[in-house]
Amino acid sequence: MIVVMSHRASDGEIEAVLVRLERVGFQIHLSRGVERTIIGAIGDRNILGDISLESMPGVEKVVPILQPYKLASRTFQEENTVVRVGDLEIGGDTIHVMAGPCAVESREQLMQAARLVRDAGGTILRGGAFKPRTSPYSFQGLEEEGLKLLAEAREETGLLIVTEVMDVRTVPMVAQYADILQIGARNMQNFFLLREVAKIDKPVVLKRAPSGTIEEWLMAAEYIMSGGNYNVILCERGIRSFENYTRNTLDLTAVPVVKHLSHLPVIVDPSHAIGMWRFVSPMAGAAVAAGADGLIVEMHPNPSEALCDGPQSLTPENFKAMMANLKNIAGVMGRKMP
Ligand code: PEP
Ligand code: MN
Repeated sequence: MIVVMSHRASDGEIEAVLVRLERVGFQIHLSRGVERTIIGAIGDRNILGDISLESMPGVEKVVPILQPYKLASRTFQEENTVVRVGDLEIGGDTIHVMAGPCAVESREQLMQAARLVRDAGGTILRGGAFKPRTSPYSFQGLEEEGLKLLAEAREETGLLIVTEVMDVRTVPMVAQYADILQIGARNMQNFFLLREVAKIDKPVVLKRAPSGTIEEWLMAAEYIMSGGNYNVILCERGIRSFENYTRNTLDLTAVPVVKHLSHLPVIVDPSHAIGMWRFVSPMAGAAVAAGADGLIVEMHPNPSEALCDGPQSLTPENFKAMMANLKNIAGVMGRKMP
C-alpha cells in the first residue's frame, strides 16, 4: 500500500509514520516527489486495521496497491523515473540510442564500432562480453578481456557502456567495467541474478523474456527495485509468437501499456525482435512514435563478418540513416535526440 502524506506534512510527521510502519514489520520505500512525500509500505495488509495510520498527523490517505508489483507501479510513483547515468538522462526528453555489435570480438572491431556510434549521435555503446548463445558451440564472448575493451572504448570515445551480465558470480566483475548492466531476455526470471544486480548502484536494462507477460516483466523489475536498485530500464525485445518469418514478434503495444502501468523508462531493441537488418530502422522509428524512451540496436562495422547476429546488424551507413530518421520522428513526438 502507499501512504500519501499531506503536502504540509512535516519531516517529524513523516518520520513518525515510518517508525510505526517499521515497528509492525513493513518494508519501507520512500518517494519524495516535488509536491508531496509518498511512503510505499510492503507487508501484511491485515495489520493496517490495528495501527490507525489514517488518523496520524500529516497523513492524507492510505491506498492499497492492487497490482502485484508495487514499487514499479504508477500508483507508487506518478512521475516518470529518469535514470541518470554519467551525464545522460534516460526517461527524460532526450531519446538515447545504445548501439554497437552483438558481441565484442576484437579491439579493432570494437573501436571502429564505437567511433561509428559516437559519430552518428549514439550515446551508449553496447557489446556483449558474455554471450547467451542457443548453441554451446557458438562464440561465447571474450569475457573479462571483452569488458576491458569496452572500458577502453569508453575512454577513447566518451560513450557509456552497456553490457550483459549472465551470472551472479560475475556481477561484481561486470559492474566494475560497465555503466549499465543488461539482464538478457533469457534471464528475466533468474531471480538470484535479479537480487544480485539489486545490490549494485548501477542502472540495469531489464529485457523482456521471449515468453514473459507484461506482469511477469514488471515483477522482475520489482525484484531489482525491492532489493534497493530503483534504476531499472525496461527493454522490449520481441516475444515469441506463431509468426516465424521474423526472429520474434516486436510487441510495440507493450510500450504504451508499460508506460501506463509503470513509471520506469522503456526502451526497445528492434534488432533481436526482428532478426533482419532491413526492418530494424522502420521499427526503431515506430518505437519512438509509440513513446519509447530509447533504443538499443546492433550495428557492426562489417556485419557479414560478425561472430554473432550479423544478419540483424546494421551497417554503419544504415545506422547513420536510421539515426537521421529517428531525429525527425523524435521531433514530431516532442522529444530530442542528443
Ligand atoms: C543481446 O542484447 O545481445 C541479447 C542477447 O539480447 P536478448 O537477451 O534480448 O536476446
Ligand atoms: Mn545479439
